[in-house]
Amino acid sequence: MRLKIFFSGILMIFVQTACSQQAKQQVMKLNQLTDSEKAVILYKATERPFTGEYVNTKDTGVYVCRQCNAPLYRSEDKFDSHCGWPSFDDEIAGAVKRIPDADGLRTEIVCANCGGHLGHVFEGELFTVKNTRHCVNSISMKFIPKNNNKMEKAYFASGCFWGTEYHFMKAKGVKETTVGYMGGRTQSPTYKEVCAGTTGHIETTEVEYNPAETSFEELLKLYYETHDFEQVGGQGPDIGEQYQSVIFYVNDDQKKTAEKYLALLTDMGYKPATQLRKAEEFWAAEDYHQEYYDKKNGTPYCHVYRKIFK
Ligand SMILES: [Zn+2]
Repeated sequence: MRLKIFFSGILMIFVQTACSQQAKQQVMKLNQLTDSEKAVILYKATERPFTGEYVNTKDTGVYVCRQCNAPLYRSEDKFDSHCGWPSFDDEIAGAVKRIPDADGLRTEIVCANCGGHLGHVFEGELFTVKNTRHCVNSISMKFIPKNNNKMEKAYFASGCFWGTEYHFMKAKGVKETTVGYMGGRTQSPTYKEVCAGTTGHIETTEVEYNPAETSFEELLKLYYETHDFEQVGGQGPDIGEQYQSVIFYVNDDQKKTAEKYLALLTDMGYKPATQLRKAEEFWAAEDYHQEYYDKKNGTPYCHVYRKIFK
């Protein structure tokens, strides 16, 4: 009897450990990294001075971890040290962990959440009253400009827009979705005209999202995970120009992120047929196309979720 209690105790410890590990993995959702991001964040390389994206950034906002999105630094604490890397004299409380560097001299700083390498911290240089300089690689961070919770938009085309919208309207942080047409040659196209294949429009879903709750990167992952982006000239049984896989980017940031993911997918062995195009005027489709599957209580025939990214 006592033995039985002992064994069930051991079993419980195993179960608890497994559960807490699972919980930890769920909390720590990591972004996919490019080779140059990995070199710094995982293998602790240093980017060349004066080359990083955020050396001279002065906009108001928050710098988050490139790997796990944890907020690290505020723009209010950034100062110009002329050293060639973004410099901060304070961190967001609890966000940055200090550890002795392998060189035995310096103090390395890492993201307290995921352990990703950030750079080094120096004290006693008298740059600011706080007398501290976090010398951080731009590539270890992502800057989120403060925009007072202003919604942002993204435009995705992945075949029949009923199926594209179905997944985005259920995604976290998405406030509104609208299906419509983009990229063609005519004004106010109708579904009939688009289907005739003469207008050049692509069936597109407009996704309005709150950048404080999700990101273009998260939406991009969902986009690739809900259609066959290797299919050329259509999607599933829907063949024709209007059903092509296209990302219509609205700014440089979206464009860069989309290019990064095309490269990542190629590295993973895929042959993406997805086109990157600059967003043009969006024409909302007729009412009966909006939220089609929810109205019909159905599910898409060619947009099935499959996990690709971490
Ligand atoms: Zn992190």
